[in-house]
Amino acid sequence: MNSITPRVRFAPSPTGYLHIGGLRTALYNFLFAKNKNGKLILRIEDTDRKRFVEGAVENLNDTLNWAGITFDEGPDIGGESGPYLQSERLQIYKELVEKLVAEQKAYYCFCTPERLEQLREEQQKLKLPQAKYDKHCLSLSKSEIDEKLNSNIPFVIRLNVKPDQKVFFNDVIRETVEFDTNNIDDQVLLKSDGFPTYHLANVVDDHLMEITDVIRGEEWLSSTPKHVILYDYFGWDKPGFAHLPLLLNPDKSKLSKRQGDVAVEDYREKGYLKEALINFVALLGWNFGDDKEFYEMDELIEKFSLERVHKAGAVFNLEKLNWLNYEHLRKKPDAEVLKMLRTEISKSEFSSNIYSDEYLIKIIGAMKERVSFVKDYLTKSPYFFQAPESYEEQNLKKRWLEDSAELLNKLKERFEALVNPSKEDFEKALEEIAGQLNIIKGKFVHPLRIAVSGVGEGPGVYDILSVLGKEETISRINSALKKLS
Ligand code: GLU
Repeated sequence: MNSITPRVRFAPSPTGYLHIGGLRTALYNFLFAKNKNGKLILRIEDTDRKRFVEGAVENLNDTLNWAGITFDEGPDIGGESGPYLQSERLQIYKELVEKLVAEQKAYYCFCTPERLEQLREEQQKLKLPQAKYDKHCLSLSKSEIDEKLNSNIPFVIRLNVKPDQKVFFNDVIRETVEFDTNNIDDQVLLKSDGFPTYHLANVVDDHLMEITDVIRGEEWLSSTPKHVILYDYFGWDKPGFAHLPLLLNPDKSKLSKRQGDVAVEDYREKGYLKEALINFVALLGWNFGDDKEFYEMDELIEKFSLERVHKAGAVFNLEKLNWLNYEHLRKKPDAEVLKMLRTEISKSEFSSNIYSDEYLIKIIGAMKERVSFVKDYLTKSPYFFQAPESYEEQNLKKRWLEDSAELLNKLKERFEALVNPSKEDFEKALEEIAGQLNIIKGKFVHPLRIAVSGVGEGPGVYDILSVLGKEETISRINSALKKLS
């Protein structure tokens, strides 16, 4: 039995917001770690100074926190493998890359941007599949290098990739992956600003942080052979690799901003529950092998395995997310929905009205099966929050008949006699009067619904009455009689 504690990491670059794909990567790492009693590390890959965005790390932390993804080590938590911000580890990368230079596994390159551009253009003309550095600086002698360094000529350090070789690695999701080194560029490892590139920093940190399994998006697959070469050059053991399938739009193109939201915070702002988003994202590339789609975090932790992640791109289906939001919201305890509903009310046109907890809980009971989002309580049943000021025109035409006012008046008298009526009491009262007058129930029910709600749709009319209570019901019938007769 392998007694090593699994250690995985989520290693985002702080570019401003957390992409849905980033949430999936973070989640799969989290599930993997929790499932195996391992550790999850947060490492901030902030070595690309050009892409640095102020506040991005805070935003990332806030979003991951909201989603319920917690870390065992990271910039704010600490840990034995820190610092966890790559920009605070520059000396480590520098020393290690110099070791590679001493062993001719990496080399100084002083080529100017102009030369590199010219090279690229020439290669483009020759229609080469990809632009590659021509190893020009590999032939510089020790004294030439020293001279250039002494005269402060800007330089980078490049990986010395040996031609005509094969690089292999195993990927849990893709099995054996093979690359030809002739297709691998002499990657820059250390940039002229003294910062490492992603490749160098990523490999060094995965090694020093004792990462056992690298779980990341498919877009990093083509970087992995470079990493494998680096592990070999350093003489380090390689971690396991798992490259997660691409996320696709419904038309099978790569998930893009143009076709919808890609930032987790956009979904959060739109009122998606974290439980629904986590459930949805978990299914973007993974299933347990059955048809089950509703999951809570605990069950995901219990059932998740990389072996059940598939290779094929995962289609982002907004309808499924909406359905999951409906399911998760429906299953939430009323007390929790109440809190969220209060927040929603405070942002709405009803913010200055006062509602008791008891009243709101009744609304939740009546509407639970009909709402997908908390805000739907307000948009789908505004009449619970304020008496209708107008009545749906079309509905009136169809349902408010000549005798409606008279019948509603009679019904109102009946209701007035009730003491603290329940839903059933309202129903019985209506049935009795309909029976006595020998008139079908619908002739009472439809105008009644219009009077109390203003609209033709919603929960059962007796449910509406029992939420509103006797006084409010009668007052709404009175207003309707006044306005409509
Ligand atoms: N910094 C990379 C990113 O932004 C990390 C890729 C990896 O996990 O190796 O996604």
